[in-house]
Amino acid sequence: MAEVAIIGGGISGLSTAYYLARRGVRSTIIESRPRLGGVIQTVQVDGCTVEAGPDSFISAKPAAMELIRELGLGDQAIGSNDFSRKTFVWKHGRLVPLPDGLMMMVPTKIMPLLTTRLLSWNTKVRMGMELFHAPRPHESDESVAEFIEEHYGAEAVDYLAEPLLSGIYGGNPRQLSVTSVLPRFVTLARQYGSLTRGVLAERAKASNHNAAPAPLFRTLKSGLGQMIEALTAALQEKVEVRHARAQTVERADSGFRVRLDGEWMEARRVVMACEAHSGAALLGGVDGRLAELLGSVPYSSSMTVALGFAASDFARLPDGHGFLVPKKERRRLMACTWIGAKFPFRVPEGTVVARCFLGGTDNAGVLNETDEAVTASVMEELQEIAGFRAQPKFVRIFRWPRSMAQYTVGHPQRLAEMQAREAALAGLHLVGNAYEGIGIPDCIRMGKRAAEGISG
Ligand SMILES: Cc1cc2nc3c(=O)[nH]c(=O)nc-3n(C[C@H](O)[C@H](O)[C@H](O)COP(=O)(O)OP(=O)(O)OC[C@H]3O[C@@H](n4cnc5c(N)ncnc54)[C@H](O)[C@@H]3O)c2cc1C
Repeated sequence: MAEVAIIGGGISGLSTAYYLARRGVRSTIIESRPRLGGVIQTVQVDGCTVEAGPDSFISAKPAAMELIRELGLGDQAIGSNDFSRKTFVWKHGRLVPLPDGLMMMVPTKIMPLLTTRLLSWNTKVRMGMELFHAPRPHESDESVAEFIEEHYGAEAVDYLAEPLLSGIYGGNPRQLSVTSVLPRFVTLARQYGSLTRGVLAERAKASNHNAAPAPLFRTLKSGLGQMIEALTAALQEKVEVRHARAQTVERADSGFRVRLDGEWMEARRVVMACEAHSGAALLGGVDGRLAELLGSVPYSSSMTVALGFAASDFARLPDGHGFLVPKKERRRLMACTWIGAKFPFRVPEGTVVARCFLGGTDNAGVLNETDEAVTASVMEELQEIAGFRAQPKFVRIFRWPRSMAQYTVGHPQRLAEMQAREAALAGLHLVGNAYEGIGIPDCIRMGKRAAEGISG
């Protein structure tokens, strides 16, 4: 009998297993895919390091760097180059740079806001006036779009909040909960009476404390797959990995039993480290209401398409780190990163690699299209937006169906109920991107906390 069965071998399940092993508790990871890592996967193509899923993590949340250091990869971590970063937004048939000094969608510098072509004068005035006439804070949860619109107007939603957030959640700001997705902004707006004033005050405090500000994002030189390889190596002989699909979870005298490919596996405790919709399908017999709540967490599907070109085929190399395409401009591409500009050491001289994002809550159907159809439509839009004629030397397409949880309005209440039921079910633990954060550091933090709870 296993002490702990962990269903799901993504970063949430792997970090749970890692921190359990550190405390001397053996576990079994059950993973239906033939490899570990979940949506974290790095591939090498023609000398280029290509991320199939996430490419970096936010550095303000410490759990990922702590794990990376423990794995002996501290010297492999690199920070984002925040000063050279230039991102464009596609608006009315041209690429317009995001104004300098934005903290997400909050302006912190006057001149770039006044001179940007991304926003109309009405919106600029409204954003400036927010300092003096901020809306009253809401008592209850509201959508990100409502919150940003109340502070800065509808155009700030369409050309800042929507494209910036769809790059993270693949979601719709009219549905996403501001309390769950932008909790810091809600607190700052309440505390300072103005979101802009709150962000400025927080930045001033940070610059008083830190000599040099930390980079916004970090990653590993050879890709985040390095972290999965190191975790897998660290877990060897301490953790059993079974590549099988868990089909159901039931209560048993010993704790729980999990059915895998027709046989039963007993475990004292079960950690649900799979997507919430997968958990919903497994837990009906253990707690019907919990299964229902898990099943009610919407997920978006996404796709990344990496295209490699010969730099010599470009009349002019693309400018900046990439671009975002607002939904209002109705294209299939949601965003594109020029990997060599963002991470120069990942692409050899003479090559240009575009990493494009498609899908999201409104365009999941693209995942069912053939590779040829996807490539043709991506190329058509890339050529139109980035203005070049080069043909790709390689194309790699990665599909991530229903992989990104959406914290829709009301998520805080749903989370509270899920966690209350989890607490009442001795031996059952929930970790993963459906609960307290979708980013890698949050998933690692939840895995570590579950391991600490289990090992006492
Ligand atoms: C395209 C993309 C880009 C992203 N970019 C970033 C980024 O830059 N920075 C960042 O911080 N985050 C990013 N994220 C989010 C972040 O990567 C994920 O939220 C996080 O990695 C999820 O980890 P997880 O272990 O909870 O889930 P997953 O990685 O989804 O792993 C869950 C695992 O459970 C397995 N499973 C499911 N059901 C069963 C079953 N019944 N039996 C056995 N196994 C099962 C699945 O096969 C899967 O491997 C991105 C996500 C995507 C999809």
